Amino acid sequence: MKTLSDVTIVCVSKYFDAEQMIRLFQMGYKDMGENRVDVFLEKYHQLQQYKIKWHFIGHLQRNKAKHIINKIDVLHSLDSLELAKTIQALREKPLEVFIQLNATEETQKYGVDIKNLSSFYEELKKYDKIKVLGLMTMGKIDDFEGTKKAFEITCKLRKDMHLKFASMGMSDDYALALTYDTTHVRLGRYFKSILEESHGTV
Ligand SMILES: *Cc1c(COP(=O)(O)O)cnc(C)c1O
Repeated sequence: MKTLSDVTIVCVSKYFDAEQMIRLFQMGYKDMGENRVDVFLEKYHQLQQYKIKWHFIGHLQRNKAKHIINKIDVLHSLDSLELAKTIQALREKPLEVFIQLNATEETQKYGVDIKNLSSFYEELKKYDKIKVLGLMTMGKIDDFEGTKKAFEITCKLRKDMHLKFASMGMSDDYALALTYDTTHVRLGRYFKSILEESHGTV
């Protein structure tokens, strides 16, 4: 059985300020994930002296992409060909991305539909500035069975497509994601208690 020590933990820093992020960094969490362009830019500048690996995990609007695209290391939310084209045009060296999959098939959710996934992936092969690592998916809020189904589908598609990585699992469902062979978990609230416990010792 996989545990957290077997996967990449992306510390979702949207709940934390720069000072708290430095404490997490000093505890060894060097992968940080932000979901908003403006907040990302602010923290990126504040924390420039730290060798943080920056993950962008939220929906990225095309018109905002130019501000961050050459600053981030990994994008977890590639969800359209339009965004892929924008990356291809702006990015200086290949960007590692996860294709965000709408595995729960909720209409209000971002992500590529399951039925379009393989053609989307094929199309991306033409873009030399995009390096697909794997699939990213989000569970269903307060719905264990729905989340389980989403992780199961994502796990199967990833295997079928021979993709090496999966970004799935958040504070409430990372244990489940580990059973579906995730490789990257995105944990936010999980770190609140860690910061409280460590207070004064770091
Ligand atoms: C906020 C967020 C997370 C982390 O959520 P927690 O439940 O606090 O762990 C993970 N992924 C995305 C895309 C987020 O926006």
